[in-house]
Amino acid sequence: MQILDGKALAAKIREKAAEDVASLKAKGITPSLAVVLIGDDPASHTYVKMKEKACEQTGIYSIVHKMPDDISLDKILETIEMMNKNPNINGILIQLPLPPHIDTQKVIQAVSPTKDVDGFHPFNMGKLVLDLEGFVPCTPLGVMRILKEYDIDPKGLNTCIVGASNIVGKPMMHLLLNKFATVDICHIHTKNLKEHTKKADLLIVGVGKENLITEEMVKEGAIVIDIGINKTSEGKITGDVDFEGVKSKCSYITPVPGGVGPMTIAMLLSNTIKAARKA
Ligand code: NAD
Repeated sequence: MQILDGKALAAKIREKAAEDVASLKAKGITPSLAVVLIGDDPASHTYVKMKEKACEQTGIYSIVHKMPDDISLDKILETIEMMNKNPNINGILIQLPLPPHIDTQKVIQAVSPTKDVDGFHPFNMGKLVLDLEGFVPCTPLGVMRILKEYDIDPKGLNTCIVGASNIVGKPMMHLLLNKFATVDICHIHTKNLKEHTKKADLLIVGVGKENLITEEMVKEGAIVIDIGINKTSEGKITGDVDFEGVKSKCSYITPVPGGVGPMTIAMLLSNTIKAARKA
């Protein structure tokens, strides 16, 4: 079994990103990212701090626009419109989840597709479905980058994705399909999950349930990618896969932490640099 070391790969990508930023700056362009952070969700605040720090280390200028939990939709849309019009802002990121009274789709769709570094706007999602150049959501893009780094070609592989959210599972499905994998996608209403996972040469899990995937659900020699992030009662971070049980059965596996997580941030930096270049 080989560990797919997302942490090391992300560090390499971030080094290259810093070089790219330096050469853009030499041409008078400073890539910049604006983050909209609404409410007091501690996890969201942690993620935003990590993104800010990564930008700073790379030389990308970032600003965080914080708004209270009870902010109105109109006020959020107004702020985004201001960011869309500001030529000094290349990328706009809306930290999810939003408070329940806010229509998330309306907010996502307010972001200009040219500044949509998270790739969540329907315009960019449509481009992804058609395999056209656009912004691709950072987490599934990070997974594809890991596969590439380890020379794992999805073409012809029986692939099972567990979790079908708009930001993880669905874009993952299209990225793999575009590379000619055979894709099976499972969710909360899937009957007999094991029947699906067991057939997979490449198993990708992004659900948010600790130990959802156990050893008997994994095919011998499978490649296992764990996107899940869960906090145990002892405060430890784990994925969705029972790593200890599964590791001896698979050919490759991503650890949590140190697998997909660092790649998500690295891809955000790459997408922001891409937005700056396009602008
Ligand atoms: P979500 O809640 O929006 O979606 C969860 C998906 O899992 C849904 O499609 C749901 O139907 C499915 N699901 C729920 N229970 C299931 C079950 N028992 N069997 C099969 N499918 C089930 O979550 P999300 O935003 O897509 O995030 C999923 C996980 O990935 C979370 O743990 C999140 O923290 C993590 N995540 C990690 C990164 C990263 O950078 N590593 C980025 C984004 C999300």
